[in-house]
Amino acid sequence: MEEKEIQALVLKEFDDEVNLRPLNGFKLDFSANPGFKKIFFSASCDCGTAALLSLEISENKTDDEIVDALPSLVERIEMQEKSFRRMDCSMHSMMRTGSIPDNVS
Ligand SMILES: [Zn+2]
Repeated sequence: MEEKEIQALVLKEFDDEVNLRPLNGFKLDFSANPGFKKIFFSASCDCGTAALLSLEISENKTDDEIVDALPSLVERIEMQEKSFRRMDCSMHSMMRTGSIPDNVS
């Protein structure tokens, strides 16, 4: 399964109140973690801060295993989104360029 197919599956599973934008064709490799597929979402706040949220899925996982893992992938990215929302905007301005990494192996 391609990154963008996984991303589309994750996107479909989001709760209505989750406000994340899929980032496509994002080629920068922040974690330099070989053997993982990476999918990226962006969360943004009214103050103009955007956070990069990412999921990593082992290349070794089969399509079936990815589908099985989907609920936990969705949960992880939603938790990253919630922690971004929980911060106030002074925190946001401090992390303007930061990212909230997460790993799924
Ligand atoms: Zn903010």
